[in-house]
Amino acid sequence: MGKPAYRRVLLKLSGEAFQGELGYGIDHTAVDSLASEIAALGKYEVEIGLVVGGGNIFRGEPASAAGMERTTADYIGMLATIINAMSLQDALEKKGVQTRVMTAIEMKELAESYIRRRAIRHLEKNRVVIFAGGTGNPYFTTDTAAALRATEIRADVILKGTKVDGVYDKDPKKFPDAKRFEQLRYMDVLNRGLKVMDATAVSLCMENSLPIVVFDFTVEGNIEKVVLGDKIGTVVTHGV
Ligand code: UDP
Repeated sequence: MGKPAYRRVLLKLSGEAFQGELGYGIDHTAVDSLASEIAALGKYEVEIGLVVGGGNIFRGEPASAAGMERTTADYIGMLATIINAMSLQDALEKKGVQTRVMTAIEMKELAESYIRRRAIRHLEKNRVVIFAGGTGNPYFTTDTAAALRATEIRADVILKGTKVDGVYDKDPKKFPDAKRFEQLRYMDVLNRGLKVMDATAVSLCMENSLPIVVFDFTVEGNIEKVVLGDKIGTVVTHGV
């Protein structure tokens, strides 16, 4: 059995991880297999925080473009992340994983409110902490929430799960000659507008020297591999 490369990780999963083949909403089979992948980390000494997106249910920007007040739309988006968090919590607990959902928007009948010190305590007790509700503020994204929570809890890395096996110089679906980067600098990501995370999230990681690993979470076993430090995906740091 390998040894994890990190002591504490923050895994970011977009809402699309929850929709599976459905194209919208929650696909229980997809959530169940995600939960299995996360539960498999239980054999390692690694603390796990999760930030979940909500794009499978609702996104603020398109709703606002269609006429809804942006702040209202964004709050609905934040609520969507809490729905995802609760479904993942349920699936994880069915597999015997101890979890806590902590929300950035108070919802005390459903989950604990986010308190940094309490989150760290849960992590130290080997509970998987699911940070829900994004940053709690409109005009932000859950990528930024991931960068923020990772910084606050002093995670060693952000593991950004996507459906692509890393960062490319151009869209690999459109251009067969697209080149995948094994390593990148934050500055290159920002200057070239590469699709890693949004600029706010990348800047926050850069300012706090927090490495980002972009990897394909849809391949079975990849979450475990990335935690073990296997060279899959693209690593973003200060220097190459
Ligand atoms: N959102 C927000 N503030 C945050 C995080 C999320 O307003 O701190 C809203 C925003 O409307 C966003 C939606 O929640 O479109 C869902 O989050 P996101 O788009 O980041 O989810 P993902 O793309 O990861 O599924």
